[in-house]
Amino acid sequence: MKVTTAEIVISAVKPEQYPDTELPEFALAGRSNVGKSSFINKMIARKALARTSSKPGKTQTLNFYLINEILHFVDVPGYGYAKVSKTERAAWGKMIETYLTRRDQLRAVVQIVDLRHAPSNDDVMMYEFVKHHNIPVIIIATKADKIPKGKWEKHLKVVKETLNFDPTDQIVVFSSETGLGKDKAWAALKSFM
Ligand code: GDP
Repeated sequence: MKVTTAEIVISAVKPEQYPDTELPEFALAGRSNVGKSSFINKMIARKALARTSSKPGKTQTLNFYLINEILHFVDVPGYGYAKVSKTERAAWGKMIETYLTRRDQLRAVVQIVDLRHAPSNDDVMMYEFVKHHNIPVIIIATKADKIPKGKWEKHLKVVKETLNFDPTDQIVVFSSETGLGKDKAWAALKSFM
C-alpha cells in the first residue's frame, strides 16, 4: 500500500479516549527495542513518526496513528522492559488487556519478534494471550538484514517452535533497514480488512 498520509490521532490510556470511528485497527506489539517503531515507520514510509515508546519513565500510552484516512495503527507500549516496577507492569497489562479484548475495531495484532533470537518468555506470553482470546495475529520477524539469507529458514523454525506457532497464522520475514517484507506485511494486514 502506498501511504500518503499518516498522523498521530491520540495517545490514549483508557477506552473513553479511543478514537470514535469504525475504521479497522491493527495493534502493534513487541518487547522493548525489538524494532517496533522502525517497523511502523517503514510501513508508513516516515522517518520518525513513531518514536521509541518503550523508554523507562515515559508515559505508557496507546498511540493511535491514522493511515491514509482508512485504518489505524495502534502502537502498544513495548513489554518486557526489565526496569519497570511491578505496579507499572500491572497497569500496562490492564490497559493492553482492556484494549485487546474489548475493542471491536481491532482486526489483528501485529506482533514483532526478532528473527535472530528465539522469542522471549514475554513474546511467548503475548502470542498465547492473543491466541487464547481468538484475536487474529500476524507475526513479523524483523532485523532479517542482520543474518545471512541462507539462515532465515533455520531462524524461522526456532521462532515458530518457541512460539508454538499456529500454522494457519501468517508470519513475515522483515527488515526495516532494507524494506524486505513490506509488501507482504501490507498484504497480511489487508487480509484482515
Ligand atoms: P522499539 O523499541 O521496538 O520501538 O525499537 P526501535 O524501532 O527503536 O529499534 C531498536 C533498535 O533496533 C534501533 O537502534 C533500530 O535502528 C534497530 N533496528 C530496528 N529494526 C531494525 C532492522 O530491521 N534492521 C536493523 N539492522 N536494525 C533495526
